Amino acid sequence: MLAAYAVQVEHSRGRRFPEPPHPYRNDFQRDRDRVIHARAFRRLEDKTQVFTRRYSDHFRNRLTHTIEVAQITRTVAGALGLNVDLAEALALAHDLGHPPFGHAGEKALDAAMRAHGLFFDHNLHALRIVEDFEQRYAAFRGLNLTFEVREGIIKHSRDYEAAQHPELAEYLLDQRPPLEAQLIDLTDEIGYNTADLDDGYEAPLLTLEQIRAGIPVFERFFREVEHVYPDTTDKLKFNEALKGVFNRLAGDLITNTQTRLKQAGIRTLADVRTHKERLAALSPAVEAERQQIKNFLYDNLYYSPSLAGEKDDAERIVTDLFAFWMNSPSALPRYYQEKAEQESLPRVVCDYIAGMTDHFIIEQYEKHCGKGLA
Ligand code: MG
Repeated sequence: MLAAYAVQVEHSRGRRFPEPPHPYRNDFQRDRDRVIHARAFRRLEDKTQVFTRRYSDHFRNRLTHTIEVAQITRTVAGALGLNVDLAEALALAHDLGHPPFGHAGEKALDAAMRAHGLFFDHNLHALRIVEDFEQRYAAFRGLNLTFEVREGIIKHSRDYEAAQHPELAEYLLDQRPPLEAQLIDLTDEIGYNTADLDDGYEAPLLTLEQIRAGIPVFERFFREVEHVYPDTTDKLKFNEALKGVFNRLAGDLITNTQTRLKQAGIRTLADVRTHKERLAALSPAVEAERQQIKNFLYDNLYYSPSLAGEKDDAERIVTDLFAFWMNSPSALPRYYQEKAEQESLPRVVCDYIAGMTDHFIIEQYEKHCGKGLA
């Protein structure tokens, strides 16, 4: 049973190109499946989340991260009586627009665009992927997703000003997105905060002592675990404590969002959309713990000297290749050369690079910039 504030698939604003109903899947289930069958989804397998493959095949990449976010999202959405199919489709699509090499790649691509008075934004890029670049169906370009999935792709993690983005006018920029979309930013964080601690400890770039001293909520769970399993290994104690943190974050997201919905007197989807702020949120105490974990990861992992070399490589590869295609557009694949007749060259080069996997962009770098990696 869906809550009255959930998105009901029967009330979807529909697709750009109307399609006959499917005999046994509703429109959001079809959208979820279209995302999974997209080329951009498969490419997530070879895109860095935090660690490149040089570290370990056990670590998260953007695909396994996405699957973890989808799993958390289904649980939270189900507990809140939301539309699980829509929430799952949005979770699976949430990182489609990320360029190769994680945050370092994104920063370099954005910097290259800013030199031309433009910018790179992964949500806007994800929308371009599902609207334009995916070519799978004979009847239309893109995946022809429902309005609610496209809206959620744009609005799940931030608000866009209508004045600055006239091209997004159809996405109700003056309204909040449905709760199914609001959840994604938080389930994404719950997913990567805990996963990055896990991979960071395993690397090993983070020590148990460091994590216990730097993250009080982890320390509380760790002490409980030591009491219950005094004889087990550190790694299993770590796992149990991390599970405690994970459940605390996800559980609080559910209960605190329920509380906020009640306090705000939210009854319908229209109430969610017109409320002055987003309603999916952690409670202040747990929000502070989330921020502590995030700060810890920034201070001790993301800017770790051990990862600095990979980041420098990423930046150099993206920057040099961008400059190469700007100077030699005839070296672009024909599809992108044709695109450059309708759109600015920097945008086309950016689109090409943004779609690449880590492996493919390194290959391109070696081919066009004539340099191997150290
Ligand atoms: Mg993510």
